[in-house]
This record gives sequence, C-alpha cells and structure tokens, in this order.
Amino acid sequence: MTVQITIALTKGRILQETLPLLKAAGLEPAEDLSKSRKLIFPTNCEGVSLLLLRGVDVPTYVQHGAADIGVAGKDTLLEHSSNGIYEPLDLDIARCRLMTAGIKGGEPPRGRMKVATKFVQSAKKHYASIGRQVDIIKLYGAMELAPLMNLADEIVDIVDSGNTLKANGLEARETIAQISTRLIVNKAAMKMKYAPIHDLIEKLAVAVAQTKQTS
Ligand code: AMP
Repeated sequence: MTVQITIALTKGRILQETLPLLKAAGLEPAEDLSKSRKLIFPTNCEGVSLLLLRGVDVPTYVQHGAADIGVAGKDTLLEHSSNGIYEPLDLDIARCRLMTAGIKGGEPPRGRMKVATKFVQSAKKHYASIGRQVDIIKLYGAMELAPLMNLADEIVDIVDSGNTLKANGLEARETIAQISTRLIVNKAAMKMKYAPIHDLIEKLAVAVAQTKQTS
C-alpha cells in the first residue's frame, strides 16, 4: 500500500522559493498552483499531496498531524508552540530579520514602552531579555503605521531590504532573530512514515546545498 504524505506549504513569497527546491528533490504539483483556487493538490509522486495555507496555519496543521510535513518561516515558528514538531532542515530561503524599529532619529521613551506587532511572543521575549517593560499591542498588518499614528513607540517586524521602514520614516533598531524558511515534521509521522519522510528530507538537503553553491 502506498504511504500517504501530506505537505503543508506557505502561500505567497515563500511558495515561489519552495517550489524550485521541491522540484530539485523530485516533487512537483500535478497542476499549476497559480491557475487554480484549490487548496489541496496531488503531485507527480503517488500518495504525496500539497496543501496551500497561510503561514500562521502551517505549524497548527503539522502539530495536529493533519499534515505530516510543513514549510514555514522561522518568524511564524517562533510564535507557535514546538510541541509535537521537529524542525529538521533550514531551507535557507526567504531570509530576513525580525527587528525592532521606531521613528527615524527618535529615542525610545525611558519608562514603559508601547510596542505594536504581530510577533507577540518574540517581542515579549526580546524586551524581557533586555529588561525593558513594555505593553504589547497586537496588530495583524501594516505595523509601520503604528509609530506614525502614535499607537506605539516601537514595532517588531520583518525587515528584508529595509525599504518599507525607510518609506515610512522609520529605522531599524535591534535584531531579534535571523529568519529563514524551515522544514517541519510531525513527530508521530516521523516515526510511522520514517522511510519516505527521511528520504524527502535528504533530497531537500541536497537541493538546498546545490542552490547555495550556485547562488
Ligand atoms: P523590506 O521592505 O524589503 O524590508 O521588506 C519588509 C516587508 O516585506 C515586511 O514588512 C514583511 O511583511 C515583508 N517580508 C520581507 N521578507 C519577508 C519574508 N522572508 N517573510 C515574510 N515577510 C517578508
């Protein structure tokens, strides 16, 4: 009997960089993902299917075993419990930094500080580690607006080129974490479906190494 393997992928920019790696590892969707509104796709490998999810939902699917394998940004994984999840491979794509930022040339206030972010856990840990008392304000997007509108003194956000911060009159301050996309695996699936999952991890590791050499 063919072993069924379900892989949860993160939609958007991470997907564009994940597909070439999967292809190099011998795995391709059976149809063009961008031309369909479906969320589950068969592949060229019997028994292997792909799910297209929002990044924040990928660890949840993998943790509960609804997907055996997932591809998610480390920023997302830092916000999620790692219970029941292995993180065996850094796919080394969608590299960026999780940083604090504030108004350019401005000083963080002396006392308690307001911090707007969607990365609540990472922000809490960071400010606690530097002994800074903060009130965290949860946002779901457009964090850059918060200091400009006096909603917050600082934000915690993803920075790649820094252009988004610059365009909004902000500057990056401290780096909280280096971020890249990771392969995650459900712990029970790793035991029950060891051979095909291990084989895929090995092939992806080779694909990552080859991509590094050629870039
Ligand atoms: P940049 O202007 O190049 O610094 O890009 C910053 C914005 O792009 C952030 O606000 C993020 O929303 C998004 N972004 C850039 N790189 C990534 C990534 N690897 N993963 C998720 N979002 C990203």
